Amino acid sequence: MNRDLLDLLPDERAQLWNFTLQLLENHYQNSEKNRASPSLDFRKIKDNASIYDFSRAIPKTDAVRHVIESLRQYTVHTTHPSYFGLFNPRPVFPGILADVITAVFNPQMAAWSHAPFATEAENHVIREMAAKFGYHRPQADGTFCSGGAEANLTAVLCALNRYFPDYATTGIQSLKSHPVLYCSAEAHHSVVRAARVCGLGLQAVRHIPVDSSQRMIPDRLLAQLKEDLENGYYPFMVIANAGSTGTGAIDPLPEIAAICQHYDLWFHVDGAYGGAIIVDPDQQNLISGIEKSQSITLDIHKWFSAPMGTSLFLTSDSAILSQTFRITADYMPKEAHDMEVNDPFAHSIQWSRRFIGLRFYMILLMLGWDGLRDMVRHITAIGSYLKEKLKENGWHLANETALPIACFHDPDFSTDPLFHSKIHQKIIESGQAWISQYSVNGQPNLRACITNYASSRKEIDDLIVLLQQARNSLKK
Ligand SMILES: *Cc1c(COP(=O)(O)O)cnc(C)c1O
Repeated sequence: MNRDLLDLLPDERAQLWNFTLQLLENHYQNSEKNRASPSLDFRKIKDNASIYDFSRAIPKTDAVRHVIESLRQYTVHTTHPSYFGLFNPRPVFPGILADVITAVFNPQMAAWSHAPFATEAENHVIREMAAKFGYHRPQADGTFCSGGAEANLTAVLCALNRYFPDYATTGIQSLKSHPVLYCSAEAHHSVVRAARVCGLGLQAVRHIPVDSSQRMIPDRLLAQLKEDLENGYYPFMVIANAGSTGTGAIDPLPEIAAICQHYDLWFHVDGAYGGAIIVDPDQQNLISGIEKSQSITLDIHKWFSAPMGTSLFLTSDSAILSQTFRITADYMPKEAHDMEVNDPFAHSIQWSRRFIGLRFYMILLMLGWDGLRDMVRHITAIGSYLKEKLKENGWHLANETALPIACFHDPDFSTDPLFHSKIHQKIIESGQAWISQYSVNGQPNLRACITNYASSRKEIDDLIVLLQQARNSLKK
């Protein structure tokens, strides 16, 4: 095999880098010139993806153009400043750069001795982030994950291993009593799936009712705990929201922490989205109590704007990850045997793993904590402006949160099951903005959140006009 066919020659590489960068730069710089959402012609999209049958290679610039142009046409552009949808960010440039560097070096993040700098860079970020949350630095540990779903699953597995030491060897069916875990009715579905994939089953999850602000009611948690104990179940874990996905609700963390302490339960905080607020000293009190948790989920690919696939699981128990995941494998390199190091593979669900931590490391190097703080503040300020403008324009806010999420409806049509989904459809079809829908207290609502640091008052004003037009056209 001629290596140059795979590496390409230096000149060819330079040409392809330049060609690709030009197209990418054009997209990054002009994100708002795209439709925020594509028109979904299924046939056309499928045909476009399968236009080549790979029977022979095509010119390399054609390949690059095909991919970039297809992504441009057929993607909901989370990079667009009028994307008010889920918590998907416009990635900050340092995070993008990190991905390119990682791809070239391709460090193997399974064994410490294969990627010592990469592993220690991740460990450094993990300790710094954990300390921000108020964990005692020498005891803090964690691992980078593919997303909040993996981080939440990691949390459930750690808690199981903490309370059921036989779980690792004899498995779930050998447990004498049925383990149950608790979360709010507004918890992310990944909690239920975690219970499912680890063998506990759906019925092991107790959804605790929420108050009118969608926050878990501690008294209801207590009542359910007592009932379960009386019926012979084994409560082992509570998962609290620090920023629920639907409405941004923050559960009463100090009260839940006290209950967990009293009943000796693992206290996990799902801060996949809202945990990011910790970097702003002016707002971090919103999630106080989080320092009392045993573990935290924090997505770096949401509010911190890293490219997709970057999340953190943090824990205040330095032994639990090894206890949960360590397996000795003869073929793993042992050079670091005598050093006081942790091999990542013995520490996480994944084995071979990409150096995803570099995205966060690079963001912190280039922006610093102050840069993240300013981004968080800007996004919350735009969120407040959005809520203000919605109210001014006769929309009723159905959620109460300091986080930049608005669930809203027209009070004249609050019982009409279709009115708001028709507005939603009109907004999406316009291609000018992307919003979602969410039911609050059983009532349909439109939902807009700010995750994109490029969103400004202008985009909010435009959204208000779009909403007004859609509403007027339906009221006629
Ligand atoms: C987004 C989210 C998750 C899931 O995280 P992914 O990164 O999408 O896997 C879990 N919990 C909450 C509260 C979330 O907002």
